Amino acid sequence: MRLYVFDGGRALVPDMSRFTMGKNIGIPVVIPFPMYLIDHPEGLVIFDTGINMDNLPEVFKKETTCSPDQRIDRQMVRLGYKPEEVKYVILSHMHLDHAGGMTLFPNATFIVRKEELRMAWWPEDGEKAYVFADYKDTRGYRYLQPKDDEEVDVFKDGSLILFDTSGHTRGHQSAVIRLPKTGTVVLAADAAQVGENLSKGYLPGGCWNSEIAAQSINKLQQLEKKGAKIILGHDLRSFEQLRIAPEWYG
Ligand SMILES: [Zn+2]
Repeated sequence: MRLYVFDGGRALVPDMSRFTMGKNIGIPVVIPFPMYLIDHPEGLVIFDTGINMDNLPEVFKKETTCSPDQRIDRQMVRLGYKPEEVKYVILSHMHLDHAGGMTLFPNATFIVRKEELRMAWWPEDGEKAYVFADYKDTRGYRYLQPKDDEEVDVFKDGSLILFDTSGHTRGHQSAVIRLPKTGTVVLAADAAQVGENLSKGYLPGGCWNSEIAAQSINKLQQLEKKGAKIILGHDLRSFEQLRIAPEWYG
């Protein structure tokens, strides 16, 4: 079993408090957009699909760089994988920097929390990070829709477990991956976007529900205490320490 981390681009965000609610106001920050491929003996899994620059609203487009070569299916092909063979696509949530590549995997089964799908298709007023164009053509795709609090053991062998980390969005989820050599890795996605979400308990930006987001941070902190390696959603400094594809974790 292998875990690949793909580099899905950068954004220069003028205000870091977008990731640390009420903290670091007005401080500019560069963030990465990670995407992941898990090569499991029983099938290929994508976790988050990155940005689709064509669909990005102008306000985000100005601050974002993502080259055509960074599209997730193209990065897979360069490693020798076939995108049409992906069995599962897991979305941590459906914001524009995670759901942008959904239509690249029409044959896959998508695992998205039931409440996240509802929120994305019918967002609250003021919720600007869902981009309908990213998923308007995916209504007929196959979905597994875990409920709140439901744990999903994807291959029924304990190697890839999805758990509820809602709060940043209505139906956010993270993944625990148990790798033979590396040990336990957690893909936190936007339940912990930057280091201060975990180290200081600052809430991620734009939370749907702050109290639940704090509980989700606590779940991640507990996993970290038990020795898991937590991969953050948008933290450049820690991203640069990771093995980026074509390197991998085994
Ligand atoms: Zn994000």
